[in-house]
Amino acid sequence: MPDNNLAFEPDELLEWRSQIDTANRNNIFCHCRSCHTEWVDSSFEANCNQCGSKNVERISCWQFPDD
Ligand SMILES: [Zn+2]
Repeated sequence: MPDNNLAFEPDELLEWRSQIDTANRNNIFCHCRSCHTEWVDSSFEANCNQCGSKNVERISCWQFPDD
């Protein structure tokens, strides 16, 4: 019986890590000016997921000051 108990194959692990890197780069804090919903998205194009408004304020997470 092959010893095949690894949770991740090396290829899968690399892909998983690259997706996390992408998510970290694309974390965008969104605030809907219409219904004041707040969420984090990976796109500057996304509308509000509650009311569908395009009147969304977007702040990249890396712009938040460290304190
Ligand atoms: Zn909204």
